[in-house]
Amino acid sequence: MREKPGKNRSMHVMSKTRLVKAVPGAAQAAAECLSRGGLVAFPTETVYGLGADATDGQAVARLYDAKGRPAFNPLIAHVPDLDAARELAVFNTDAERLAAAFWPGPLTLVLPRAVTCTVSELATAGLDSIAIRVPDHALARTILRAFGRPIVAPSANISGHVSPTNAAHVLEDLDGKIDLIVDGGPAPVGIESTIVACLDAPVILRPGGLSREQIEATLRHGLAQTVESQDETPLAPGLLQSHYAPRTAVRLNATSVAPGEVLLAFGTPLPGAKASLNLSEKGDVGEAAANLFGHLRRLDAMRAPSIAVMRIPSEGLGEAINDRLRRAAAPKVIPASSS
Ligand code: AMP
Ligand code: MG
Repeated sequence: MREKPGKNRSMHVMSKTRLVKAVPGAAQAAAECLSRGGLVAFPTETVYGLGADATDGQAVARLYDAKGRPAFNPLIAHVPDLDAARELAVFNTDAERLAAAFWPGPLTLVLPRAVTCTVSELATAGLDSIAIRVPDHALARTILRAFGRPIVAPSANISGHVSPTNAAHVLEDLDGKIDLIVDGGPAPVGIESTIVACLDAPVILRPGGLSREQIEATLRHGLAQTVESQDETPLAPGLLQSHYAPRTAVRLNATSVAPGEVLLAFGTPLPGAKASLNLSEKGDVGEAAANLFGHLRRLDAMRAPSIAVMRIPSEGLGEAINDRLRRAAAPKVIPASSS
């Protein structure tokens, strides 16, 4: 039976990085580590991924921190098969065709998030779409099956460095920052997955291990113009209409609460708010990152005149939190066709 996802399930204490060979029992050890909120690097057919429990916001926050990702660039959720993918996303005809032809394999699909989706909002950066992949690697799939929940697994390197294609590469970048590396030999494809968005007309967001020709042959029609997204750069917000921004005005670095305002607190909350949600009572930026998108959504739904946001320190994940908050506070540009 699946464990119910809970936002603050992590019981994680980091010690030093363990390196294990892909012997029997390694997948089980990886799954156990992941379920304690740990970070586990493992091979996929594309490159080595750095895995975290996709449903555990704090584990995801730790993953962004370990990689030193400058902003909450959304992550790819990995699942063992199409049935598991259907719990996370809505498949249109193009997506069905592509999944049938290329999964398992080096293809990531960006699809509308399903109501049954358990992936943390931090992992999807608050978007109402989600990127999903079924990897074609025996060890990766054994870990996914043993774990029983989706795993986010961006490349297991420091942000901006070259992607790792063997366990030694992972160790060079992440020794001491992650819990476990499962060494399953070199990654056979060695280049990241091709990302195709099937939100309306299908479009390649990132070229990768599967060619445009193969994709077009399966779709039986051409692809829209490729949208190049740099590996570590967030996809141009607004490019995909699903980009999330609260409707309510957002006021940053608040030192007091105005009448009628709701409060997004950090640490000891300011007095006087009509309603208040705390990103982290103990002032922990990792916990705050895990709560950020969910709390913003809930406060937005209250339809207050504005959301007052307390100051968040810029160290560690605070930088990415502040980046997202600045975007949320920026004047809204409403696309003509948005509903
Ligand atoms: P990586 O995990 O580093 O291989 O990169 C994941 C890529 O997937 C990034 O370039 C993201 O921008 C992209 N991505 C993930 N989720 C989404 C989404 N919902 N919409 C668009 N792009 C996404
Ligand atoms: Mg990468």
